[in-house]
Amino acid sequence: MIAVLKHGTTPAQLQHLVDWLKRMNLDVHISEGTEVTVLGLIGDTSKVDMDLLASLEIVQSVKRISDPFKQANRMFHPMDTVIEIGEAKVKLGGGHFAMIAGPCSVENEDQIIEVATRVKAAGAKILRGGAFKPRTSPYAFQGLGTEGLELLRAARKATGLPICTELMNIHHLDQFHDIDIIQIGARNVQNFDLLKEVGKTDKPILLKRGIAGTLQELLMSAEYIMSEGNENVILCERGIRTYETYTRNTLDISAVPVLHKLTHLPVVVDPSHGTGKAYLVPPMAAAAAAAGADGIMIEVHNNPSKALCDGAQSLTPDQFADLNRRVNIIREAMQ
Ligand code: PEP
Ligand code: MN
Repeated sequence: MIAVLKHGTTPAQLQHLVDWLKRMNLDVHISEGTEVTVLGLIGDTSKVDMDLLASLEIVQSVKRISDPFKQANRMFHPMDTVIEIGEAKVKLGGGHFAMIAGPCSVENEDQIIEVATRVKAAGAKILRGGAFKPRTSPYAFQGLGTEGLELLRAARKATGLPICTELMNIHHLDQFHDIDIIQIGARNVQNFDLLKEVGKTDKPILLKRGIAGTLQELLMSAEYIMSEGNENVILCERGIRTYETYTRNTLDISAVPVLHKLTHLPVVVDPSHGTGKAYLVPPMAAAAAAAGADGIMIEVHNNPSKALCDGAQSLTPDQFADLNRRVNIIREAMQ
């Protein structure tokens, strides 16, 4: 349930109302915008007398949120959420755009440092790289694990770029204490225990859409994280499985405006996993920019043909630089 307050409500009146609602065992989430203040009421609102609440002098309107996602709901929090990442304080959301780039997997020190240096020079704001890799085959390269996290830290130190890497297992969470963005991948987006654990941290979480996940399911997964207290959720469209087999997945660009309508959380598009083919990545990145994505995540490798994972969809640093230049032109044109 949300209560929209009238313009000119004093802090004392607001506090009085919040105290009253809290006495009904509700959690009250206050969202103060420039135009209106919205109170989001969480918990068992069935006992709240809506007419009584609506009749209060400072209350403009009261609505029940019928969607099952509440805290992620745009009604609950009308302003875009802006997420600040790492010591560099890179902003994402609410008009702040960030390019995230790096290899599918961290392979060795030379590789990650070279890619990090080159994507930074080309305009990336955040470095990605998998240390723990979710591979379809148990015989495929599984990532360097703990050593991969160390190499990402070294790349952060060398470039100043915040780092984004995937967490697959609850038991690894303490190793991620200084990771700037924890990625929850397409396979774990409905691992609800994992979502609850990252919800207890204050880290930005990049949450990928499931391979067969609806947008509502993605938002319900975000709700799991937010309901534990962590509001720093970044949603990521990375393609879904359809009957089309030419591309690795079918990238749902319409997810961007749909999610912007439904939620205040920032939306990132990953055209690398979304298409699986390097030549399709630049045009789909351009489409994502045109659709209003708050960020784009691109797999970049210094030698794609030798990559231990996802070489076919990886761009070279030069190709990435060209993509970024075009994305900037499109973003400018869309202002
Ligand atoms: C990745 O980003 O490296 C990855 C494995 O992505 P997804 O979970 O979307 O497949
Ligand atoms: Mn990959």
